Amino acid sequence: MESALSREALSREEIRYLLSCEDKDSEDLIFEAARSMTEKVFKNKVFTYGFVYFSTYCQNNCNFCYYRRSNRIDRYRRTAEEAVEISSALRDAGVNLIDLTMGEDPVAYRNGYEGLLHLVSAVNNAVELPIMVSPGAVIDDALPLLKAAGADWYACYQETHNRELFYRLRIGQDYDRRFDLKKQASSVGMLVEEGIMTGIGETIDDIVDSIMTMRDPSFRQVRVMTFIPQNGVPLVFDRQHRSSELRIMAVLRLTNPDKLIPASLDIEGISGLGPRLNAGANVITSIVPPNRSLAGVAQHELDIDNGHRSPDHIYEVLDGMGYRAATNNEYNSLIKKWTGGGNL
Ligand code: SF4
Repeated sequence: MESALSREALSREEIRYLLSCEDKDSEDLIFEAARSMTEKVFKNKVFTYGFVYFSTYCQNNCNFCYYRRSNRIDRYRRTAEEAVEISSALRDAGVNLIDLTMGEDPVAYRNGYEGLLHLVSAVNNAVELPIMVSPGAVIDDALPLLKAAGADWYACYQETHNRELFYRLRIGQDYDRRFDLKKQASSVGMLVEEGIMTGIGETIDDIVDSIMTMRDPSFRQVRVMTFIPQNGVPLVFDRQHRSSELRIMAVLRLTNPDKLIPASLDIEGISGLGPRLNAGANVITSIVPPNRSLAGVAQHELDIDNGHRSPDHIYEVLDGMGYRAATNNEYNSLIKKWTGGGNL
């Protein structure tokens, strides 16, 4: 931890040790170090992202996902006008970024991604906030078009960097293509988010590999999320091999002092926010306005309609914990440093 706090690159063995030491005192020290590293760089600021899951249709069949093609669930597809309206409300409520997420919806992909590009550019023109898109494994030609439409970030999660496990999770998808897209997004000037899941049958060494991979400076935001089983999802939660999301998050922070690390409200709702900030997170993702019939990802309903994921409630909770929501100027100047201007 001392090496990490003095910004030395941790070795594979050191990362493995931090992930696997078992006593409670050591764990508390790891969280303390992660929190202090975050505060050194970001003080008590926390960034906030509004989440607009605008299409829950998907052509894929990932076996950990509620929205997989074979799952017989009610789905929705929001129009560009609806996405603009929801995003404007989120902007007015003070979020720093709009996260436009979809499954790999064949309708949005049609005619050279016409529907997707139209929606991104409509939201960009209306809200004038940074935009993150999570459109799935698009063909690489789409990335410069998405950037031109106003997308600053490309989020595309590998979920594991163990190829064999990847092929069991993301049925019929191409590991290298998905990974290379993130490199291409970076090369066209987009910021990139990479992420993994825990509880999917990974080993500690898989997590070590992922942490080594996610150190790459082209990933400016790195996330870990616990797999939560939902109806119609074939993957079974692997308790035995499960690593702690919070521990992984803390080690991600110790190996990535300057990056954004999200605390998703999808896993444990608002009650899971404090422990995640304590483990080094500095972004609250998946802020969803209530009563808009919008879904989350890892748990599709949690804390949405009771308003506990609304911006106002989150600012109140942050305040009570001694943090403060970052201003748009603070967020924009952070990412401008990384993009050299970009779309902002
Ligand atoms: S994880 Fe994404 S690509 Fe896979 S089934 Fe779910 S929505 Fe589709």
